[in-house]
Amino acid sequence: MNIQIQENVPLAPMTTFGIGGPARFFAEVQVEEEIREAIAWAKTRNVRLLLLSGGSNILVPDEGLDALVVRLTSNEFSFAGSELEADAGCDLFQLIKAAAERKLGGWEKLAGIPGTIGGAVRGNAGAFGPEIKDFVTRVRAFDTELCDARQFDNNACDFSYRHSFFKDHPEWLVTRVWLTLSSVDTSLSLRLIEETIREREKRHIQNVRAAGSFFVNPVAPQEVRGQFEKEKGIKSREGRVPAGWLIEKVGLKGARIGGAVASEQHPNYIKNDDNATAAQVKELAQKIKDAVREKFGVELQEEAVVL
Ligand SMILES: Cc1cc2nc3c(=O)[nH]c(=O)nc-3n(C[C@H](O)[C@H](O)[C@H](O)COP(=O)(O)OP(=O)(O)OC[C@H]3O[C@@H](n4cnc5c(N)ncnc54)[C@H](O)[C@@H]3O)c2cc1C
Repeated sequence: MNIQIQENVPLAPMTTFGIGGPARFFAEVQVEEEIREAIAWAKTRNVRLLLLSGGSNILVPDEGLDALVVRLTSNEFSFAGSELEADAGCDLFQLIKAAAERKLGGWEKLAGIPGTIGGAVRGNAGAFGPEIKDFVTRVRAFDTELCDARQFDNNACDFSYRHSFFKDHPEWLVTRVWLTLSSVDTSLSLRLIEETIREREKRHIQNVRAAGSFFVNPVAPQEVRGQFEKEKGIKSREGRVPAGWLIEKVGLKGARIGGAVASEQHPNYIKNDDNATAAQVKELAQKIKDAVREKFGVELQEEAVVL
């Protein structure tokens, strides 16, 4: 066997939240053959198989995970013309910078979203307008139930706001991604990347001990949308209102349970402010959901994966 199975491996340092207990079993995998080995190993021991990538959209429970947690560490990438082919484990930010050096871009506003390209495809990550779906042409993914790989074109990925086929089908692991980028001037592209990071810092959504937006921006009834549009002077998109605005409206901006805080600057970021536990984060999230449901009749759904 090529893969090395470790026991009781702390997961908190592998997540941006910095929260949670150990994985009972843990392995790093690179190629599909190693994924197959991990699946077979988990099957014979009757334990669940879970994938962790950049750990920037996940809350690990305090007691840890009674599972085999695998981490995709493959991070090779190459360019051919305007196409970028990248292993799922590649860091998104590194890819955006490497593309700029090759005079390729168009996706600079995604700079600063932590995590891997595989994770970004699974959640159709986006910021300031563009989403990863705007650049993806093809995806290779591995079905952990049938132990088989398949290619998906952009349509088959079924992308929509913070959603893809892979989100609904966690048995599929994205292993490789092909993207088509536009021709850009390297220095302009690098400048746009820097400006994007500065904007994220200004908005307090950069380098936060959190999992990004905790809730998806929900579709809201007409009167709630009207209230939002009147107050903010901006049109709601796809019938959605920002979850952070709803949280502010129910008076829970800055709310704290133990070390878990709904950020003052960006209330949809639940932060680990001071040794928060997963239980505290979950309790605060529940409090927010209850308050928003009661006041607005809107059901908030988690964007972060709460295990
Ligand atoms: C400070 C901060 C800011 C953020 N800002 C943004 C933002 O602006 N826009 C945005 O969209 N998101 C944002 N996020 C959320 C997060 O960065 C994205 O969701 C990111 O794409 C997750 O990728 P990851 O590799 O870290 O996934 P992980 O957190 O490791 O995994 C998340 C889920 O995806 C699954 N997954 C991971 N990799 C794969 C794969 N290869 N195939 C199949 N499933 C997979 C995992 O099993 C898990 O269920 C932010 C997060 C933080 C901490």
